[in-house]
Amino acid sequence: MVLNTLKLNNGVTMPQLGFGVWQVPDAEATTAVAEALKAGYRSIDTAAIYGNERGTGEALSAVDRDELFITTKLWNADQGYDSTLRAFDESLRKLGLDTLDLYLIHWPTPARELYVDTWKAFVELQKEGRVRAIGVSNFQPAHLRRLIDETGVVPAVNQIELHPYLQQGELRAFHAQHGIQTEAWSPLGQGGELLGDPVIAEIAQRHNRSAAQIVLRWHLQIGNVVIPKSVTPSRIRENIAVFDFELSDEEIAALSTLDRSGRIGPNPDTFN
Ligand code: NAD
Repeated sequence: MVLNTLKLNNGVTMPQLGFGVWQVPDAEATTAVAEALKAGYRSIDTAAIYGNERGTGEALSAVDRDELFITTKLWNADQGYDSTLRAFDESLRKLGLDTLDLYLIHWPTPARELYVDTWKAFVELQKEGRVRAIGVSNFQPAHLRRLIDETGVVPAVNQIELHPYLQQGELRAFHAQHGIQTEAWSPLGQGGELLGDPVIAEIAQRHNRSAAQIVLRWHLQIGNVVIPKSVTPSRIRENIAVFDFELSDEEIAALSTLDRSGRIGPNPDTFN
């Protein structure tokens, strides 16, 4: 399995496809992550709020540390300079790691007015060499602009809800302009209606692939990082088997017509 990698704006390389563990209970995370590592995944996406950093960390010793790319996220209640430094220590302790590959502010929660102070702590952690790359999640253009204006440090990544029903054109254009890598969460639309879409089904039949594989291939070809989640071993393998075929320009264009503001998760401007 050859995993494509992308270079972030500080020179760090990140696998373009990783494994997400949201809603995987701590006790099941070790088995799920072990299965993913066996299938060839090297990038794992967790978060303090998922409550499975310990279980995730337990699976990691199966692979050399320098082959892994581990992401976790700071929860909203821990925003603020000092509390961020404490929360980071706690996440690393649970994961059983000395350094992290990517740390993300999970949500901007603008009502708290703390994301700039939080970002200053992230910058410090990176300076100290405790995390290789720093980024954000669920940030809108206005939040990104404020971070950049007030600190001069551009996030390496913005992890946002993105799938063919919510294509995030404005944010993707902003990211491209500022050198921010777009990372898609819920890349499969959480396995709902999207995977039964007739346009996707037709393309899937033509390539003799599953709907999930067509959607993941669309993400990869438009330059997104993706972190599909599954706890089913056959699907874990299926979701990484997407580096040996290609969609045509016409197929990419057909998938791009599916955009319909189909947000599943909360609105980042108001979520607290
Ligand atoms: P997803 O789009 O990855 O969908 C996962 C679901 O799709 C699975 O539970 C399963 O029901 C189904 N599925 C998976 N593979 C399939 C296949 N091959 N065929 C058919 N069905 C399949 O949704 P997600 O878990 O919400 O998102 C992925 C990851 O993104 C999460 O695990 C988490 O790491 C991250 N995430 C981040 C945020 C954030 O706020 N930053 C929010 C949500 C998720």
